[in-house]
Amino acid sequence: MKSKGLLRHRLLFPLATGLGYYLGAVLGVAASSMSEGISIFWLPNGILLAALLMVPRRDWPLYLALAVLAEIAADLPTFTLAQALGFAAVNLFECLLAAWLLQRVARPFRLDRLRHVALFGLVLVFASGLAALLGASIYSLSVPAATSFWTFWMIWWLGDGLGVLLVTPLLLGWLQGAPQPSERRRLEAVALFALTLVFTLWIFSQPAHLGDSFPRRAFLLLPLPLWAAVRFGVRGAASIGLLIAAIAITASVHGLGPLAASTSGITVLLLQEYLAVQAFTSLALAALLQELQDRNERLHIRERAIEAINDGVVIMDARAPGMPIVFANPAFAAMAGRPADELLGRPLFQNEGTGQAGHVAVPDALREGKPTSTPLHSLRQDGTEFWSELRTAPVRDARGQITHHVAIQHDMTEVKRNEADLRAAHDELDRLNRELETRVEARTHELQLANQYLEELASIDHLTGASNRRHFLEQARIEISRAKRLGLALSVIMLDIDFFKSVNDRFGHETGDKVLVALAATIHATLRGGDIFARLGGEEFILMLPGQDLPDAFQMAERLRLLIAQNEGSGCPVPITVSAGVARLEKAADEIDDLLRRADQALYQAKKQGRNQVCVWPFTPQNPPDGA
Ligand code: GH3
Ligand code: MG
Ligand code: MG
Repeated sequence: MKSKGLLRHRLLFPLATGLGYYLGAVLGVAASSMSEGISIFWLPNGILLAALLMVPRRDWPLYLALAVLAEIAADLPTFTLAQALGFAAVNLFECLLAAWLLQRVARPFRLDRLRHVALFGLVLVFASGLAALLGASIYSLSVPAATSFWTFWMIWWLGDGLGVLLVTPLLLGWLQGAPQPSERRRLEAVALFALTLVFTLWIFSQPAHLGDSFPRRAFLLLPLPLWAAVRFGVRGAASIGLLIAAIAITASVHGLGPLAASTSGITVLLLQEYLAVQAFTSLALAALLQELQDRNERLHIRERAIEAINDGVVIMDARAPGMPIVFANPAFAAMAGRPADELLGRPLFQNEGTGQAGHVAVPDALREGKPTSTPLHSLRQDGTEFWSELRTAPVRDARGQITHHVAIQHDMTEVKRNEADLRAAHDELDRLNRELETRVEARTHELQLANQYLEELASIDHLTGASNRRHFLEQARIEISRAKRLGLALSVIMLDIDFFKSVNDRFGHETGDKVLVALAATIHATLRGGDIFARLGGEEFILMLPGQDLPDAFQMAERLRLLIAQNEGSGCPVPITVSAGVARLEKAADEIDDLLRRADQALYQAKKQGRNQVCVWPFTPQNPPDGA
């Protein structure tokens, strides 16, 4: 692929250019009708210029060298080597100057812009005019002739200029690449070519028009290159122009057709002027049309893009009263709920909105010529809500005057809906969070209660509500150490129900339980603030009385015993009695075990002495211990 391209660019194109230059020069020399040998129609420069405009500058020397060789080869049969070299230098100068000037305008230089065609004409006039000065000088100096320098100059100038005008656009048009024409276009091209051939032959086969009047008939052919320009662009215009030129030149040189004049000098000038006008006109038209077509295409793309866009686009005329809509794209029509053509001529807002702020603010901003961005809340014709954002911008003409306003409406309904959904989801989450917090709080409270209950279970006898043995021992140790520290008295009363087994036996275990509950309640009722009451086990209870010595403790035990024996208001289902043993903290080394042991001994004594009585440790003579 690469080597193929290289072959084309390094070998094929230069050789073709050289060969073209040679053939063009041969043709040019042959077509020189003038006795002086100056060519009326010089094609080689057109070929060389086209090549220079298309190839990179680094390749220019190769093309120029080949052109020199071709020029010498073509000129030698007619001219001397010195003349040939002189002509070659002039032609190369002309082509280089023209190529350099044109590439200053645009690279790559293409004739599809009117500006390019105009510059092409100007550069051509200038470069060939300048070259003609040199060429005419060579002629004047080397060929003895009656023709004046300025006639030489004029013929050289027009001949070169015309050659380039006819050939360069043709080559650029065909070689710079264009889309392949369709089948119908091809047929049309063939028809155009045939018509041009027939009409041109017909017009130029007429006998010479040897009058003073302007040769109008040749211009009857003008529609043909114009047709070519309209339908086939630069390529078509250049091709048809060349065809007409070939026939016109051949005929005129042979004294035929409307351009054949009384002298060959006038014929050549008429011919050159005619062909130049025709070629330049059709080229300019082709370029203009191409430019318009390109612009049209760009506008079409924008129009289709605006039609395709999802946002509403609307254009209002700022100069007409009420700023009526002059364009609305399908998306805008859909948002407005009306066909686009119904919207034309109406103002942007027509009592369709409920969001008063936006619908009022926008026209105000438009009048002030400021760009805006406004949220709008509207009701569609079917009554559904419609949220949108409207952005407007003023459109100014070349002088900066506002001629139109463009507005873009973006549908925000979905966004609003999503926002609302999101808010609802957020609220729901909030609610769930609060609910969870409440539940956690409740659960924590429950756990606290359960904990408390467990703690109580661990310290309280569940049947009677008195402290249990373990809790009692804990409390007792604390009280004992405090009593010792403060030097206070401390007593205990140990109580045991008499013959409780028989209560159970006679009334049942349940009644026995009730007796236990009632007894505990009776004792509870007599307690003071600091007293500790506990169930040691079975039907055996203990009372610790901090700060009380034996007499007080004894009294209390007696009082309890009597209360129980009398069974008054205690709710006890069966009459019972209790025995009690009282003891106290005797010495500093005493611990709870000592105290319990003594109280137990006193209780044992009470049982032994007949029950329903209180014994105190240490035993008095009235109250001797067992065996003492
Ligand atoms: P004493 O006058 O010598 O104390 O005779 P007692 O029958 O009360 O003595 P004993 O120790 O032989 O009997 C205690 C009884 O207490 C035995 C048991 O059936 C009963 N008892 C222990 N705990 C409970 C209890 O929680 N509920 C009930 N209903 N009875 C219990
Ligand atoms: Mg007992
Ligand atoms: Mg008992």
